[in-house]
Amino acid sequence: RYQSLAYSRVLDMHKKHFSPVQTAYFSEPLLLHQGHMEWLFDYQGNRYLDFFSGIVTVSVGHCHPKVNAVAQKQMGCLWHTSALFFHPQIHAYAEKLSALLPEPLKIIFLVNSGSEANDLAMMMARAHSNNMDVISFRGGYHGSSPYTLSLSNVGSYRMTLSSGTGCQSTMCPDVFRGPWGGSHCRDSPVQTVRKCNCAPDCCQAKDQYIEQFKDTLNTSVAKSIAGFFVEPIQGVNGAVQYPKGFLKEAFELVRERGGMCIVDEVQTGFGRLGSHFWGFQTHGVLPDIVTMAKGIANGFPMAAVVTTPEIAKSLGKRLWHFNTFGGSPMACAIGSAVLEVIKEEHLQENSHEVGTYMLLKFAKLRDEFEIIGDVRGKGLLIGIEMVKDKISCQPLPSEEVSQIHEDCKDMGLLIGRGGIFSQTFRIAPSMCISKTDADFAVEVFRSVLIRHMERKAK
Ligand code: PMP
Repeated sequence: RYQSLAYSRVLDMHKKHFSPVQTAYFSEPLLLHQGHMEWLFDYQGNRYLDFFSGIVTVSVGHCHPKVNAVAQKQMGCLWHTSALFFHPQIHAYAEKLSALLPEPLKIIFLVNSGSEANDLAMMMARAHSNNMDVISFRGGYHGSSPYTLSLSNVGSYRMTLSSGTGCQSTMCPDVFRGPWGGSHCRDSPVQTVRKCNCAPDCCQAKDQYIEQFKDTLNTSVAKSIAGFFVEPIQGVNGAVQYPKGFLKEAFELVRERGGMCIVDEVQTGFGRLGSHFWGFQTHGVLPDIVTMAKGIANGFPMAAVVTTPEIAKSLGKRLWHFNTFGGSPMACAIGSAVLEVIKEEHLQENSHEVGTYMLLKFAKLRDEFEIIGDVRGKGLLIGIEMVKDKISCQPLPSEEVSQIHEDCKDMGLLIGRGGIFSQTFRIAPSMCISKTDADFAVEVFRSVLIRHMERKAK
């Protein structure tokens, strides 16, 4: 019946029942009706290539036939048990997920969202270390609960209300915007040299950023800390990358002070980065705690925290972990189907192949257009940072970015936005896309930019 609702009626209902802070993309928000794999369809039947996949969530494609079939079957058997009873779907899932993680990361806690996963990870780090202070990067995003909001250092999300205590931010070693540059030191098929013109194999930038990190550890937190939260590539901040080798050294510094290294794989996990299944593997590090959500169940609410038996034991001494919905048979059946599809359809390999192909094509556009400052990322987590010009590298004004964003939508391409100034386009489609889809996206973007430059020149 909802399909018969007129667009204007939906807008009225939105105004009436939702708060203005619950914003939507576009001056005329999209009213969607259906999705199939990498495609979305609006109420009028217009088709869009979805290159943001529900904010990096629909990992294997909208309404993937196998995932849907498994979900429907499980729905007819049992939805929910609560953690008080066992169910084979839950245990089978735990076995499948843990097989994808290295020793000693074998203990799994199932929850419902990325924020919940990071909340729990923070409690674990504090319980195990007996310390309070936690650090995270500026520009990082780890959730919207009061605890995780203090870890999320993206200005527009922060509140002027008190939230979790003991969280400190530190400089993000952003190799594009950071003071020492170093884009040539990042793990991406696309490199740019902006401020640091040293030889391609020189990684002095990393050392400078490490000095900053040490400075935070020496000045802003207690001698011993509980943990360090980090995304392998910053998602909300627009696929911001760090110099190669940075995390390895940073982890050593954190561990010297008794802290846990917590890797937030909410956007980077499940093969999206192509070369590896997990983002931490691309940095050559072994975390103490890994959090995951979004793509874990292709859009069904599910999240997980994976840690070592020792850390889990420390948590257990302080807390009886309970979560009403976390890891229901439904969620676990879907999570298992997602893992199977990633493997059967070689989606990690596809992310690598199509992602690299697309990154290189976007890098060509960067060379053509003065207003593309940087193209970066890995696999199918890509950022295109828009600037006024390549010399100042000031963010392109928001109205211009919005216009480009809308024009892409009008030509049938949906992409995301991110970055502190909302200046970066985010490309993170379902991992099932083809090179033809990538070609379409690049060509839409090119023609939109040509039109934009013509308008500006008038
Ligand atoms: N971590 C990261 C890296 C995220 O991108 C997000 C969501 N954007 C979260 C945590 C929080 O996840 P959720 O919205 O499911 O609470």
